[in-house]
Amino acid sequence: MKHIKDNVLKRTLSELRRMDAAIQKFLSLETLPEPIACKPGCHYCCFNLPMVTPPEAMLIGHYLDRAFTRRQKQTLHQRSREINEKIADKQADEIFMMRHELPCLFLKESMCLIYTVRPAVCRACSSTRAAHCQLIFETKNHRARLPSYFQLREILETVHQRFIEFCRETGCQSDILKLTDAVEDYFRHPNPISAWCHGEIVFRFSYH
Ligand code: SF4
Ligand code: SF4
Repeated sequence: MKHIKDNVLKRTLSELRRMDAAIQKFLSLETLPEPIACKPGCHYCCFNLPMVTPPEAMLIGHYLDRAFTRRQKQTLHQRSREINEKIADKQADEIFMMRHELPCLFLKESMCLIYTVRPAVCRACSSTRAAHCQLIFETKNHRARLPSYFQLREILETVHQRFIEFCRETGCQSDILKLTDAVEDYFRHPNPISAWCHGEIVFRFSYH
């Protein structure tokens, strides 16, 4: 079982690194009209509820198990519960419009606590104008789109598809999950990675 678990984690990380390389390759094209404005500390896009596939959730959970203290994990578990309670009776549209009230549970002092294992969706999220991201955030105009490149969205969709196919091939849960649900369910389960590898439904289905 340890072998399967290691293989899942290794494969997930390697897929995410491959994604980073594909993004970097695209962003270094000389024909790119504008560079990407994203910089460490810029975090308007982290007021969000990222979605993840189960392999990404396992990688994040495993990282938390290794790199975080029991106290830190309790705090994160509590934060994920609070966010989930805040949006529990809300429709998808309402949640979308309250993004400015929903900092990601891993956002701390403008930085990502899980940067090395952050979800694919966060790796693809980018903008050519940080001021526009700030404006969207400050005016709460969450329907506005970030000025970016559709090719990054395509890279993300390919990676998500690979993860889902991998889950299906191995008979493991393959639903796309809300990160807060995934973290809460991971912490709640006594042995989430092994259970998932055995085909158990570890994560609730994310309705939003
Ligand atoms: S997407 Fe926008 S808010 Fe996020 S890091 Fe890039 S410029 Fe900053
Ligand atoms: S996981 Fe990290 S990068 Fe993604 S939204 Fe949360 S804080 Fe931002």
